[in-house]
Amino acid sequence: MASAKPFFGSDSGALAPEEKKSFRKVLIVADKKTALVISAHSADFVWRAGGAIALYAERGWEVTVVCLSFGERGESAKLWREPAMTMEKVKANRKEEADRAAAILGAKTIFFDVGDYPMRIDDRVLFDLAALFRKIRPEFVLTHSLNDPYNFDHPLASHIAQEARIVAQAHGHDPGTPVIGAPPVFLFEPHQPEQCDWKPQVLLDITSVWPKKYAAFKEMSAQEHLWQYYERVALQRGVQASRNSNKTIKYGEAYQRVFPQVTEDLA
Ligand SMILES: [Zn+2]
Repeated sequence: MASAKPFFGSDSGALAPEEKKSFRKVLIVADKKTALVISAHSADFVWRAGGAIALYAERGWEVTVVCLSFGERGESAKLWREPAMTMEKVKANRKEEADRAAAILGAKTIFFDVGDYPMRIDDRVLFDLAALFRKIRPEFVLTHSLNDPYNFDHPLASHIAQEARIVAQAHGHDPGTPVIGAPPVFLFEPHQPEQCDWKPQVLLDITSVWPKKYAAFKEMSAQEHLWQYYERVALQRGVQASRNSNKTIKYGEAYQRVFPQVTEDLA
C-alpha cells in the first residue's frame, strides 16, 4: 500500500504542510462559508461535482476538494499506454490536471495519496479527515455513492468520508477541538446509477457555471473519452430538472441525499 501520509497540493494551498501538523488543534473557523468534497480519485470531483463546486465558489464559498488518490492505477489508462511511463509520472500528471481543473472551478485541493485499485484506508487517514472536518467545518459534504459494483474505491471513499464526519461529531474524540454539527451529505452521480442503487433526489441547476465545468473537463486529458459522456449526463439532468420545476434549466447535476432534509417550508 502507498503511504497514507497526506500531502497538500494546490498552489492556492488549502493547508500548508506545517498547518497540517497542527490542524487537529486548530480552533479557528473559516471566515467564509465552506464546503468539503471527498473524491476517491483525482478526477472524480470534476465529472460528478464540478458544477456544485463552481457554483458555490462563485458565491464566495471556500470549497475544499480532498482527492484520496490520484487514480493512478485505475483511471489513467491513456497515460499508461505512453512509452516509459512510471507510477510517479502518472501521479504527477494526474495531480497537475486535478489542480488545474480545481483552479478553474475555484476550489482548493488536498491529496492524500492512499493508492487506488485497490484503495485501502487506515485509521491515520480517517483521523486526518476527521481533523479536516473540524478545521473546515463544512456546511455540506459531497462524496461518492454508497454502492458501485464497477468500482470499489468509490464506495470506500464515501464510507470514509461519512465515518470521518461522524468521528468529528463525537465529543469524546480529540476533546481539545470543537465538534462539528450535522452538515448534509450529498452523493455524486455514479457512472451507471441503476447498478449502484442510486437515485437523483436533488437536481442542481448548473447552467450558469457549465462553461467552467466543461473547461475543467478539458484539463482531464487522460480521460478525454469522458468529456462528451458527462456533457450528455448534464444535459439529461437539465431536462429532468426543468421537468421537475417551473424553470428552464439546460445543464444539471444530480445528487442523492443520505440524511433527511430538515426544512420549515415544503413549497
Ligand atoms: Zn474514480
